[in-house]
Amino acid sequence: MLEQPYTVQCPYCGEWLEVLFDCSVERQDYIEDCQVCCHPIQFHVQIVDGEVDIEVNRN
Ligand SMILES: [Zn+2]
Repeated sequence: MLEQPYTVQCPYCGEWLEVLFDCSVERQDYIEDCQVCCHPIQFHVQIVDGEVDIEVNRN
């Protein structure tokens, strides 16, 4: 099971969103629209020593 749910806070509306990340990929950068306010959120995901490090920014 490599896809795991994580909770991140939308940088626009502040809502907490549950997102799935594929933990087999060491570094991911992508944009996904907020499920609540529909603004494009930029995700930076990194796996560091098996720990998932997530950063979200306004696009
Ligand atoms: Zn939002």
